Amino acid sequence: MGLSGRMRWASVCLLFLLVFLFPGEALARANVQYPSSVGSGSPFVIRVTSSAPLTGVSVQWQGRNIPLDVALWNNHYIALGLFGTQTGKVKPGLHTLKVTVNSNGTRRRISLSIRVTPVKYREDHLTLPESMVTPPANVLARIAKERKAVGKALSTATLTREWGLPLVRPVDGIVTSPYGRRRILNKKPRTPHGGMDFRAAQGTPVRAALPGRVVLAGDHYFAGKSVYVDSGGGVISHYFHLDSIGVKEGERINRGAVIGKSGMTGRSTGPHLHFGLSLSGQLVNPEPLFDGTISGMLEKTVSRTLNITGGK
Ligand SMILES: [Zn+2]
Repeated sequence: MGLSGRMRWASVCLLFLLVFLFPGEALARANVQYPSSVGSGSPFVIRVTSSAPLTGVSVQWQGRNIPLDVALWNNHYIALGLFGTQTGKVKPGLHTLKVTVNSNGTRRRISLSIRVTPVKYREDHLTLPESMVTPPANVLARIAKERKAVGKALSTATLTREWGLPLVRPVDGIVTSPYGRRRILNKKPRTPHGGMDFRAAQGTPVRAALPGRVVLAGDHYFAGKSVYVDSGGGVISHYFHLDSIGVKEGERINRGAVIGKSGMTGRSTGPHLHFGLSLSGQLVNPEPLFDGTISGMLEKTVSRTLNITGGK
């Protein structure tokens, strides 16, 4: 056996050794894309990509664990997540996001640091009759019951991803009150505005910004006639102060489908549509998602590699 023959023999041995040590997916990796910094209230996208089969991906963020749908695209396993922080609820600073990846029985976890930066939202001072600011005592039990139903709806985490970008504008009217606006009512600061208000005359058809399933439809003290839609991955959108509701709980709706007509039911000073977006229980600013695309949002991310077989 000559030198080249010996080398060939050595490489065959090495290959055999590698296959023996790491059967199946030799040295498989997953790539995690995430933002290193994000504004308070701003939504962000997480993407996990691997050429090895991903049998499960989940994200732990702000005390919630959300399982993500894995899709096979171009011979790659891809999981997408939409997350954010609620302004006024989550303090700016460093926050940890944990991604758990399962691949054929191997489980790996990576901890990522995301800096939440402060954002200055608008502040308005208003003086209103006290009866409008503080609900009467006889409705407190009703409010508590409705809050519980809403909390349950917002904690839905369906695996199948139905959300996509951009979102459809639910009505054509201009934004009359943006997300995060802080109202100082009778000198008392209130929680920042959890959604966006659109100008909408009474009876304007309201379109679904995202497809999904109706998880809650009711007539609530503050929100009036309201609809909550689950789009999977902890993404729940909602529409308040409707004049009439055109869908039923459990019903599947397409992106852009009419879900009802706008109005001024509940605690509302005039006809408008309040649209809100909850991402794993955090009310975020939906505004950037009306023109945002997934690839556009991924441009603002950094990436980390996770070895899912052989070593760590
Ligand atoms: Zn509103």
